[in-house]
Amino acid sequence: MNQLSDIAVIRDVLGRHGFHFSKSLGQNFLVNPGVCPRMAEECGAGPESGVLEIGPGIGVLTAELARRAGRVVGIELDQRLLPVLDETLEEFSNVKIVNGDVMKVDLHALLREEFPGMQVAVCANLPYYITSPVIMKLLEEKLPITSLTVMVQKEAAERLCAAPGTRQCGAVSAAVRYYAEPRLLFGVGRGSFLPQPNVDSAVIRFDILDRPPVEVDSEKDFFALVKAAFGQRRKTVANSVSALLGLSKDRVQRACERAGVSPTARAEQLTMEELAALSRAIGQEKEEEK
Ligand code: SAM
Repeated sequence: MNQLSDIAVIRDVLGRHGFHFSKSLGQNFLVNPGVCPRMAEECGAGPESGVLEIGPGIGVLTAELARRAGRVVGIELDQRLLPVLDETLEEFSNVKIVNGDVMKVDLHALLREEFPGMQVAVCANLPYYITSPVIMKLLEEKLPITSLTVMVQKEAAERLCAAPGTRQCGAVSAAVRYYAEPRLLFGVGRGSFLPQPNVDSAVIRFDILDRPPVEVDSEKDFFALVKAAFGQRRKTVANSVSALLGLSKDRVQRACERAGVSPTARAEQLTMEELAALSRAIGQEKEEEK
């Protein structure tokens, strides 16, 4: 079916299926015809590769992916959309829709079963209410994927792409950089969606790194440090780390010295290398405390 971004077509399909948008599921469907082809191109879908989509909605992006990729699998939580997708994606034999919650699906098993021997990319217009958890799940699970090309709220895009050592950097910006190289691709205005949200969006791409950009002794401790350091942005690193990781101020002070990090620095001023060095030094201090 053509013109899935045409409002009249969407209203007709949804009307015939008695569908009403669910705000709590983040259902804002794309109605700007330029966006999905561009996303499908940017994610690098090709005849030999597979694409995993999250939240196909009525299939507007799915169709563009199916035109380019060897195989497309979409995970859609809302059961009411399954008969709609059967109709709108009828012409494609290389698409499968899985009914499920992306946060609960065993993605390793799904990728193994659905894309044997294929390179896989993720491409999605993500539901806003779980943007960061979905991205972190996809990255933390170390899935065999090459990239994520996702549409998120504009402010979230800026935060996710912010480089450590810059003002906009937060815990999530530092965390994603452990796994991937993020890039802001293009903005998408709020008028591109039905119903129209109160915010603008942007498409970002994460290229998955072969190996982390920094060396840490324990990933768990590194992420705990990142969370603690950025948890209280207005405090100095030494103060927030000491409070949240339960380490004495003296020990944190020493860890900062070992790592060559100023204890009065704010988290947003630290580079990935400094965060990693601090995490290693805190690990050593903890060992010595035992
Ligand atoms: N891809 C469509 C588009 O661009 O028009 C729809 C995007 S809409 C922003 C988000 C979609 O994600 C909706 O179809 C919604 O039902 C689905 N969704 C919401 N929560 C989900 C979850 N936890 N797992 C899978 N899909 C989910």
